[in-house]
Amino acid sequence: MLKAFWQVVGLPPKSAQFSAAHRWRFALPPDPLAESCLFESEMKVGACGDWCAGPRVEGAFLSGMSAASRVLGLLKPSELPKVVKGKFGTPFDPEQPE
Ligand SMILES: Cc1cc2nc3c(=O)[nH]c(=O)nc-3n(C[C@H](O)[C@H](O)[C@H](O)COP(=O)(O)OP(=O)(O)OC[C@H]3O[C@@H](n4cnc5c(N)ncnc54)[C@H](O)[C@@H]3O)c2cc1C
Repeated sequence: MLKAFWQVVGLPPKSAQFSAAHRWRFALPPDPLAESCLFESEMKVGACGDWCAGPRVEGAFLSGMSAASRVLGLLKPSELPKVVKGKFGTPFDPEQPE
């Protein structure tokens, strides 16, 4: 991993003076929901996080994308922010492959 780090930062490699691995026992939600996010369309309220889609950063990201997609799905095309219209064209659904 250190070798990859020096390659990414583009600096000459140096050896570490100290390193340790620590396994965080309580860092992950134990039993995430099967839903990728919670969303109530009438009230326009949603919730997302690693406790939905999966107990890690990737799950949190996918859950956030899912909630964003639900929000965008409520907007009319004329209400979509320019960056969303330009990048995705239509509201992005992370559960559907592009
Ligand atoms: C020590 C540790 C190590 C980890 N290591 C890894 C790892 O190596 N790889 C990996 O994939 N995952 C790891 N994880 C898990 C990863 O950090 C989480 O899955 C991810 O951060 C969850 O993202 P999230 O957005 O769901 O929640 P969070 O990142 O917890 O974000 C929630 C945010 O909401 C804010 N908030 C809370 N209450 C309120 C409120 N009332 N009002 C306003 N804001 C509020 C908090 O301040 C926080 O910023 C680790 C977690 C921990 C604790």
